[in-house]
Amino acid sequence: MPQTPNPWVTALTQFDAAADRLHLDDALRQMLRSCKRELTVHFPVRLGDGSTTVFRGHRVQHNVVLGPAKGGIRYHPAVDLDEVKAMAMWMTWKCAVAKIPFGGAKGGVAVDPAKLTPQELENLTRRYATEIALLIGPQEDIPAPDMGTDALVMAWIMDTYSMHRGYSVTGVVTGKPLSIGGTLGRQEATGRGIVYIAQEAARYGLTKFDGAKVAVQGFGKVGGVAARLLAAEGCRVVAVSDISGGVYNERGLDVEALHRCTQQGARVVDAPGGDHISNEELLALPVDILVPAAMESQVTGANAPQMRAKMVLEGANGPLTPEADAVLAERGVPVIPDILANAGGLVVSYFEWVQDIQSFFWEEDEINERLRRVMVRAFAEVKSLADERRATLREAATMRGVQRVAEATLVRGIYP
Ligand code: NAD
Repeated sequence: MPQTPNPWVTALTQFDAAADRLHLDDALRQMLRSCKRELTVHFPVRLGDGSTTVFRGHRVQHNVVLGPAKGGIRYHPAVDLDEVKAMAMWMTWKCAVAKIPFGGAKGGVAVDPAKLTPQELENLTRRYATEIALLIGPQEDIPAPDMGTDALVMAWIMDTYSMHRGYSVTGVVTGKPLSIGGTLGRQEATGRGIVYIAQEAARYGLTKFDGAKVAVQGFGKVGGVAARLLAAEGCRVVAVSDISGGVYNERGLDVEALHRCTQQGARVVDAPGGDHISNEELLALPVDILVPAAMESQVTGANAPQMRAKMVLEGANGPLTPEADAVLAERGVPVIPDILANAGGLVVSYFEWVQDIQSFFWEEDEINERLRRVMVRAFAEVKSLADERRATLREAATMRGVQRVAEATLVRGIYP
């Protein structure tokens, strides 16, 4: 059995490559390589049958040089400290690439949320929020949804934090429901950002966009929305999948119909309109754009050689290992890295936080237009650095992010 790749090793490998090319000195390298704060909590939750189970959770702040820490909270059985550290580091670079004044954080609980009742999920969330209240806050560290969490989970965190303070603190989380200070456009933001990036990639000649054949792995908050918006903008979405497998239709899937089915609780494979394929088969389809939007380490040195996609656009965080990157770089397949491609959620989260702090809310078209401008500028900067330094887009994006945080670190100096 091949070993499951460790995302923290992936994140460090990517960082080291960027640090080498930037000629960072040892001290700076050590500072940016380590996570500033790593909190592990074990906490009991009373379940519906009267029994009690102890869960393990984490909250990690990788770096807060540019501003308050920002990053999602994941509920998934495979959550562990290394995974959370990797995602926190990627958030640091992602914020810097998009020029959002936040640092990087991430959190998670090792749990399968599908196995809990709504009441158990609320109990777990409120207790976890209390445990990590040591770190979070609107000026300190602002969580958001990730795999297995959603707007309702954010509402419970916001309410729990506010109860402890004695007043409403809307800015403590983003991705909240609209009724408690959420923003328009947040639910679609990551997927919409992916569309803007795909359009920019086409404008620079890396792919085609109109009529482009697209396969999307993962049909959740990122992949589901990206598939729908890409189809609405004129791409031909030929395959989508979730954890149970995928469906494929060479003529193009009816993504809206698929969405309606999955909204009612069906799995992607239960929806009509396509032939069944496995996730492995989806990743190897001959498409113009492949969007891995499920989870990390899906494409490795083992399955990358079978890939026939002309371009990869990372919706998930860390879906490709460095070995997969090397295979695709060798073949000249462009990979638009997570820290650029899926930054839309972060950008609109930042808009949500700004609106909460000002108690002044914007129109949706204004939000989408501002998001588009951020994504277009970030893409242009990364592409021009890649061309200038003869680097892959991942190397260029990581260099951009690392360089901005390194500069700020040097300007601030070392305390005391
Ligand atoms: P989600 O829970 O809403 O959806 C995940 C989807 O992936 C589901 O369809 C699930 O069935 C599928 N999936 C899970 N494991 C799989 C596997 N092994 N093989 C195939 N499919 C699998 O999660 P999400 O919020 O859409 O997050 C997906 C990825 O995008 C994660 O890597 C997350 O960190 C990243 N991300 C999320 C956001 C956000 O705003 N939610 C922003 C940026 C990046």
